[in-house]
Amino acid sequence: MAIRPILVLAVVASAVLATGCKARGLTADTIYTGGDIITVNDAQPAVEAVAVKDGKILAVGARSEIDRAYKGPTTTVVDLAGKTLLPGFLDPHSHYINALTVANQVNVFAPPAGPGKDVAAIVAELKKFRDARKIPEGEIIMAYGYDETSMPGGRTLGRDDLDRDFPNNPVMVGHTSLHGAVLNSAALKKYDITAATKTPPGGVIVRKRGSNEPHGLVMETAWLPIFGSLPKPTPAQEVEWSKAGQLLYAAAGITTAQEGATHAPDVALMQRAAAGGADLIDVIAFPFITDLDAILKDNPPSTFGQYKNRFKLGGVKITLDGSPQGRTAFFTTPYLVDGPNGQKNWRGELPFPEETIKGWFKRVYDLGLPLNAHGNGDASIDVLLRAHEHAAAGSLDKDRRTTVIHSQFVRPDQLDKYVAYKMVPSLFTEHTFYFAQAHVKQRGQQQAYFLSPMRTAIDKGLHPTNHTDFNVSPIDQMFVVWTAVNRVSRGGEVIGPDQRVTPLEALKAITINVAYQYFEENTKGSIEVGKLADLVILDKNPLTVAPEEIKDIRVVETIKEGKTIYQAK
Ligand SMILES: [Zn+2]
Repeated sequence: MAIRPILVLAVVASAVLATGCKARGLTADTIYTGGDIITVNDAQPAVEAVAVKDGKILAVGARSEIDRAYKGPTTTVVDLAGKTLLPGFLDPHSHYINALTVANQVNVFAPPAGPGKDVAAIVAELKKFRDARKIPEGEIIMAYGYDETSMPGGRTLGRDDLDRDFPNNPVMVGHTSLHGAVLNSAALKKYDITAATKTPPGGVIVRKRGSNEPHGLVMETAWLPIFGSLPKPTPAQEVEWSKAGQLLYAAAGITTAQEGATHAPDVALMQRAAAGGADLIDVIAFPFITDLDAILKDNPPSTFGQYKNRFKLGGVKITLDGSPQGRTAFFTTPYLVDGPNGQKNWRGELPFPEETIKGWFKRVYDLGLPLNAHGNGDASIDVLLRAHEHAAAGSLDKDRRTTVIHSQFVRPDQLDKYVAYKMVPSLFTEHTFYFAQAHVKQRGQQQAYFLSPMRTAIDKGLHPTNHTDFNVSPIDQMFVVWTAVNRVSRGGEVIGPDQRVTPLEALKAITINVAYQYFEENTKGSIEVGKLADLVILDKNPLTVAPEEIKDIRVVETIKEGKTIYQAK
C-alpha cells in the first residue's frame, strides 16, 4: 500500500520537471516521429520520437514522454509518415575535392552507377550536358566514370567517337580509376599529344591499330601533366562549386565527408570556401604526407581536429601501394597474371622505400596527429604494421586509431595486429560488385572471397568502416550497405558468403564506427542525447526490407545540426 503515494509523487515530480524544463527553455525546436527510428545506439536501439533543440539531440524515447516533456507552442512536429530516421551518414574515405569539379562534369559510369552502358550512350550524355548548359565552342567538357572493361563486346571509346559531335570542344572522359582519360582530337591538340609523342615511362598512350596516332586513352604518367593543368575554380566559383560538391554528399545522406589525400593549395581553397559560406556539411581533410610541411606552416598541429566553419584537418594521409584491380597493389605472393607492363611473377611494389615510410609514420606520431594510411595488398600492410611498430615503439597500443584505408587484401593474422594496435580498418566492400571478376582472375577465388573481410573484422572485435573512395565509385551510401550485406558481383556471384554482415552492422560502418575513426563518437554517429542533430530520412527501413532491395532505398531528407540541407524532389 505504500506504493501509491510514491507513484503519485513521481507523477507530480515529473510534471513539475517538464514544466520547469520548458520554463528554462527546454522546448524542442523539432520533434521527429511517426516512422521507424534507427538510433544505432545499442543501449537504446529503437525509439518512437526524437526531440531536437539548437542543433543537438535533446531527447529520445517514447512519443508520449517526448511530447509531454518537450513539445511546446513553437515546436515543429515532423511526421515521418512511415519513413525511417537514422543518424546522418559519415564518409570514412573519399576524395571530396573531386566533388567540386564533378558537379560540373558528366556522369558516364556504367549502370547502375550511371548511364554509360556503351559508347553511344556516353556520347549521348555528353551532348545532353553540352546542350543543357549551352556550352560554347572552345570550352572544355569533362566526364567521369568511364570503365572500358564494362563496354559491351570490348568496343571501347576513342577520339573518333567524340570528334563527330565535338569537333571544336576539347572533351575529356575521365577513367574510373582516376588515373587517366579518353581525349578527343581537340583535347589531344590542346595538350600536345601527337603521333610523335613518346609514351613516358610508367605511362600509357593507346595508339590506333597499325599506326602511331593516339587512339584517345591516356593514362598514368602520361596523364599526370594534363591532370595537373586542369581548370581550377576561380575565387568567385570556389564557394559555388564547393556547395554543389557538398550537395552531392548531402543527397546521399552524408553529413560528414572526407577529403582523403589533400594537397596544400586545396587546404587553402577549402578554408576559403568554408569561410565564404560553403558549410552545408562537415568536411575533414587529411593532408598528404608530401604536402605536410607546407600545410603545417599555416596550420600548426594544435589546430588539427578543430572545426572552423565546418572544416577541419583530421590528420595525415600516407599511401603505401596502388590498387588491386590495376595490379599495382603490393602482395607477398605473385598475381596470377602478368604485371601492368607485362612483368612476370609480378607482386606489385612499394611506391616509396620502406625506410621512408617508417620515417613518415614516426613524424606523424611524434606530432601527435591521427594517421590514415592506404594499404591494399598484404605486403603493403606488412610494411604498414612494421612502420607502426617502428614509430610507436613503447606505446604500440596507444589509442591513436590509425586507420588502414582499404585493407582490401588484409590477412587474418594482420587483423589480429590491428586489434592489438587499436587500428581501424576502413574497408571497400563495393569491390565485391564493381571489380570482383578482376580480383578472382588476378588473385584467385580464395583471396578474392576474403576481400574487405568485414565479418571477420567485426568478429575479432574491430570497428570497421566502409567507403566509396569517391570518385572511384559514386557517392551512394545505400549501395555501400548493400554490398556489405550481399557481396554480389556484377555477374551475380556471391563474393565470400561468410564475409557478409547484417544490415545493422553495415549501417554502423557508415555511422558510429566512422565517428570513432574520427574521434567524434561523443558528438556523432548515433541518435543519442547531447549529440549533434545530424540526421537522414530514408524512404524505407534498411533493417526490414529484403537485403537485396537495400540498394533501392532512397534518401528523402538530410539534416545537419537540425537544419534541412537536402530534400528529395
Ligand atoms: Zn582514395
